[in-house]
Amino acid sequence: MKYCSIASGSNGNCYYVAKGQQAILIDVGINTKHLELRMWNLGIIPSKIQAIFITHEHTDHIRGLSVFCKKYQIPVYLTEGTYSGTKLRLPEHLVNIIKPNATIKLGELTIFGIPKFHDAKEPCSFVISDGKSNISILTDIGRICENVKHVIQHSDVLVLESNFDEEMLANGRYSYYLKNRIRSGWGHISNRISVEVFQECRTNRLKHLILSHLSGQNNTIEIVERTFAPFCQDIRFSIATRTEETELFDINELVLKQVV
Ligand SMILES: [Zn+2]
Ligand SMILES: [Zn+2]
Repeated sequence: MKYCSIASGSNGNCYYVAKGQQAILIDVGINTKHLELRMWNLGIIPSKIQAIFITHEHTDHIRGLSVFCKKYQIPVYLTEGTYSGTKLRLPEHLVNIIKPNATIKLGELTIFGIPKFHDAKEPCSFVISDGKSNISILTDIGRICENVKHVIQHSDVLVLESNFDEEMLANGRYSYYLKNRIRSGWGHISNRISVEVFQECRTNRLKHLILSHLSGQNNTIEIVERTFAPFCQDIRFSIATRTEETELFDINELVLKQVV
């Protein structure tokens, strides 16, 4: 499987997973122009995307959805709550309503919906599997529930939220209301919570950790790197950013590196 982050952060999220002829996007949180540009950089052809999965209706996950799915006529999979939350009227033939715990087969890929706690109508995360390896995308997780732990335990590649530094949030200029929304258990998880659950639940099968959905106001790449690097000596370790796409990773090449 190949995979990458095309955009990641509080201002826009989009992740790509492909195997053979099958290629999907998780969320389309940046506009179509930027998305096409970043796909071009990665050598991904937009018309080859066969499905888009949407985790929830917040703008940073759907900003480019309407234009992109119509332009390339790509089917969209999302829960009923998420669809109503988007307030979008997408062409009927492109809309596929799913349960938050749905299992969808697309050629060689199986996509599992994983319900999560987040202040959206019917949010879920997604795990993408080819039957051999699991790529898990866990962002906008309000708290560490059993689903989050279970997913981390079964991940070969883990895209994990590390949203904010607790001190920066506490001392920052966000309103009291917004601060509480973020740390309420329905918002995002901090670097501390993220590294704790990572240490607790990761297993030997994990080959690559990508930290994601960093806050622009209350976090820095340096802090995230400092927090996680000591625990990632034996695996590939990356940080996805808002400003640019990651490289296009190949899970087989990660395995080879470990063997050598
Ligand atoms: Zn959200
Ligand atoms: Zn988000």
